[in-house]
Amino acid sequence: MNRIYNFSAGPCTLPLPALLEAQREFIDYRGTGMSLIEMSHRSREYGEVHEGARSAIRRLLDLPDGFQVLLLGGGATLQFAMVPMNLLAGGGRCDFTVSGAWARKARADAARLGGVRDVFDGADGDYTSLPDPAALEIDPRAAYVHITSNETIGGLQWQDWPETGDVPLVCDMSSDFMSRRIPAERFGLIYAGAQKNVGPAGVAVVLIRDDVLARCADDLPAYLSYRTHAAKDSLYNTPPVFAIWLMKLTLDWLEQEGGLIEAERRAEARAKLVYDAIARHEGFYRCPVDPRFRSRMNVVFRLPNEELEGKFVAEALEHGMSGLKGHRSVGGCRASLYNAMPLEGAETLAAFMDDFARRNG
Ligand SMILES: *Cc1c(COP(=O)(O)O)cnc(C)c1O
Repeated sequence: MNRIYNFSAGPCTLPLPALLEAQREFIDYRGTGMSLIEMSHRSREYGEVHEGARSAIRRLLDLPDGFQVLLLGGGATLQFAMVPMNLLAGGGRCDFTVSGAWARKARADAARLGGVRDVFDGADGDYTSLPDPAALEIDPRAAYVHITSNETIGGLQWQDWPETGDVPLVCDMSSDFMSRRIPAERFGLIYAGAQKNVGPAGVAVVLIRDDVLARCADDLPAYLSYRTHAAKDSLYNTPPVFAIWLMKLTLDWLEQEGGLIEAERRAEARAKLVYDAIARHEGFYRCPVDPRFRSRMNVVFRLPNEELEGKFVAEALEHGMSGLKGHRSVGGCRASLYNAMPLEGAETLAAFMDDFARRNG
């Protein structure tokens, strides 16, 4: 087997034990004579996977009672629309923190469906910094406040959460979900596409607090309504069974490895290796992000020119490291260091960065 270090931003590297388990069970699931993806989503076997995934999410996050766990299709992108459809119906308004490319997309959909007021906009600083959460001036009449916990393209991450009082805090947690502990009770709604930290593409996790669910519109088309999914344990229609199965295997692995305390420790260790390598070669590598908000998931950095950046990415690939090219909209380099990236991956990258800087600096 030739598994390389995959630094792709998503879909991305998954834990080998989860992939191997899926491979082992793929054709003949637990002696049933068929694959899990060939059987009814109402079967006992799938039911165990579905509930297994949902309860693993509850355990890992230490989710208090009073939250619904939904597993939906359409990625995080559908949530950009579903959140305002459900919570801004009938002329509602929300407060937004515009922290980068993903927040802007979420904001655009919200603005199509209701009123949006920006309580932070990082455009002036080219989206390299975040506000002090305590300094945000939230409108107490806002239907919700939206934040993006980790900007996957810009490489910045909230370290602290705003206190929003009675206004529900809504968070796009797609690219750092399950990579650290969170005070779940402070959020009204969390959504995350699975394909960064917890599984393959095809499923998004939505956690919605019951009091927020109670405020949702009740006249939406069935699939677009959170109420529909909550009332049916997220089995209203055929769920993305394959993606949910792989997510469950990934979450099982995460629990066996020590849960979110360990995930957080590893994320810090991996990111430190790469940021330290950048700092060792100041003037050659440069991270544009405010040091207070640098992401532990997506480390973005520049080299002195684009030619060297291209060379860096190509040579890294020759050394068994893929996916280091920055997002096409911003250029540069980006190392995505999600849960399943082994520490050795970050060590190998840091050593390569040292070597590359010495040879080209
Ligand atoms: C990847 C990503 C998305 C988009 O997710 P899809 O599942 O592709 O719709 C949204 N927000 C953030 C922060 C992301 O990283």
